[in-house]
Amino acid sequence: MDTFSKEERREIMRRVHSTDTSAERTIRSLLHAMGFRFRLHRNDLPGKPDVVLPKYRSVVFVHGCFWHRHPACSRASTPAENREYWLPKFERTIRRDQRTTSELRERGWNVVIVWECELKDADALRRRLFSEIADEPSIYDSKQAPLPLAADKQTAYEVPRKGKGKTKK
Ligand code: ZN
Repeated sequence: MDTFSKEERREIMRRVHSTDTSAERTIRSLLHAMGFRFRLHRNDLPGKPDVVLPKYRSVVFVHGCFWHRHPACSRASTPAENREYWLPKFERTIRRDQRTTSELRERGWNVVIVWECELKDADALRRRLFSEIADEPSIYDSKQAPLPLAADKQTAYEVPRKGKGKTKK
């Protein structure tokens, strides 16, 4: 049984969405400061990516850890109560994210997922964004490996840079 009141549920949704929004703003200013030029919310693309970088044929999604279920992230805890409410919702979100990603990849887009908790470490995030967007095709995408976790940043984000000094123009 669902024991959340309408007000409680609205408050949860509000928190989730406002987190997403401020995270989006952060990632945009980060990308902008890195010299990337982009467009926002192109409605003709699957999943309406938060940021579209046509020059690099890359899209960026900023995902709230709770809502989009960042694996092994403390922010993605499952509420003890009302699991029959949350679990199907989480499952739908995950499935939608997977579908969006594969549709975009089929159309030749490089899909970059940024987790909200990654914003804490701007340096690591900057390195990852640069290597996944501007450098060689992402090793994560090409191998279909799970996305790196913030906790693994020491190793996961130290992507070896190939072709020193060479940037795609
Ligand atoms: Zn997270």
